[in-house]
Amino acid sequence: MQNSSASNIFDALNFDNRFVRELPADPEPDNYRRQVYQACYSRVQPKTAKAPRLVAYSSEMAEIIGLSEETCRTDEFCQVFAGNRLAPGMEPYATCYGGHQFGHWAGQLGDGRAINLGDIVNVHGQRWALQLKGAGLTPYSRSADGLAVLRSSIREFLCSEAMHHLGVPTTRALSVILSGEQVVRDMFYDGNPQLEAGAVVCRTAPSFTRFGSFQIFAARDDLETLKKLIDYTIRTDFPHLGEPSKALYLQWFEEVCRKTAEMVAHWQRVGFVHGVMNTDNMSILGLTIDYGPYGWLENYDPDWTPNTTDAQGRRYRFGNQPTIAYWNLVQLANALYPIIQKAAPLEEALSAYSATYENAWQNMMAGKLGLLSFDPASDETLCADLATLLKTAETDMTLFYRNLADLNSSDDVSAIHRLLEQCSYKALRTEAREMASLWFKAYQARLKRDNRSNADRQQSMNAVNPLYVLRNYLAQQAIDLAEQDDFSIVWDLLDTLRKPYTQQTGREQFAKKRPDWAKQRAGCSMLSCSS
Ligand code: AMP
Ligand code: MG
Repeated sequence: MQNSSASNIFDALNFDNRFVRELPADPEPDNYRRQVYQACYSRVQPKTAKAPRLVAYSSEMAEIIGLSEETCRTDEFCQVFAGNRLAPGMEPYATCYGGHQFGHWAGQLGDGRAINLGDIVNVHGQRWALQLKGAGLTPYSRSADGLAVLRSSIREFLCSEAMHHLGVPTTRALSVILSGEQVVRDMFYDGNPQLEAGAVVCRTAPSFTRFGSFQIFAARDDLETLKKLIDYTIRTDFPHLGEPSKALYLQWFEEVCRKTAEMVAHWQRVGFVHGVMNTDNMSILGLTIDYGPYGWLENYDPDWTPNTTDAQGRRYRFGNQPTIAYWNLVQLANALYPIIQKAAPLEEALSAYSATYENAWQNMMAGKLGLLSFDPASDETLCADLATLLKTAETDMTLFYRNLADLNSSDDVSAIHRLLEQCSYKALRTEAREMASLWFKAYQARLKRDNRSNADRQQSMNAVNPLYVLRNYLAQQAIDLAEQDDFSIVWDLLDTLRKPYTQQTGREQFAKKRPDWAKQRAGCSMLSCSS
């Protein structure tokens, strides 16, 4: 680690490192793996990357924090966001948190390979924390190496930005940079370790605080630090709520419940499967965080999970995400209980999750189907029958909804058969064909009740049903080429996914169903936590 500060091209970054200033620090200056008590963070220095090389950056994110595209193309940028130099105002640290992993309390986890550089406040007064992922060991690295590989870094970078443009609450990403180091990974934990290219992502968010950030102090009965973190979080990340107090804690928790519900409803809308919804991967701001073995539904299957580490129990399968988010909120409620000391109001706040989710889901489904509003009397059945049909016909979720907008309330049933034939992964058999006819007639009758013009309905459907998502195999194609030093697909995908709801000429290859070769290929439908 060189101590020299990067020159004034970073002067625009206005740091206000409130987290380190206001919260208790680990007094130990040395960087070795350990349990850290009564502290929210430890100071650390990023590891020197041998030969940093830019893979890609997000121009939108650069602009938000006040950096020009010109700056992003400098060597200084590469050095700073690979962790080799600190820009003026950066104060690197790793945070302490715990978590439930796959339903079991795992104790201290913490930023094992994430190093925060500090928080900037931009010209609009917005706070953005900058964090390097894969920049070396911290006291929280446990038995791992603190590094990340190119494939998982490209996946995190592209997906964060894609989710943002889809309108899904998410952490963002500024850059992905090759470190020039080789990293050993056993991708499927099957005794086949390989050398892979190392990389560092700079990700950004108003805050990276997780459910597990609170849980760790409750688990250790350190109520003093727990209260400090809660008060800090309310003042910094939820300032609109007012000054912290016991009554306000409940209001705050209820807001966390509502934000979490809204986030998960968005996941279900776009077909995103997080893959590792452990409580350390749940953001207090209701942002999608920690892009690991996530995946996108291709053939509609609520039981699908991309994460091979979860293949047995399928705890984090698509259809279970709303239930797991609730389970995670219950764990957060348990962590807050010693401060609030009343169970009933916490339970009441938790019920806000269910109510918000139900409402968000209904609105979301009405939107996807182009209905003016959700009428439970008819639309519960309409949605349930559609889910059965899409599953039976093995239909690509994204393409189905997108193309459904083109069908009219007066079309013959053959229109839905043709649509399913185009979007499905197997031939349309009699059973599915009959199901489709019945469903389509019910749908058309429902549309007639709304008495809306086809053009109006089509436009509203296309605003919520994306044409372009980061299909698993597309990310893998970008990675395969990037591993040969060609980052062109990374840039093409980044650009296409900026406008996921707009059909883009010349980008047809990004709106196709999964090709046969990708069905069983590692990285395309099967991913592990190894990253
Ligand atoms: P995840 O499954 O990515 O949410 O990670 C769970 C925990 O393991 C977190 O505390 C991570 O910081 C840590 N971790 C994951 N990969 C590494 C790594 N390569 N080096 C150090 N810590 C890691
Ligand atoms: Mg994590």
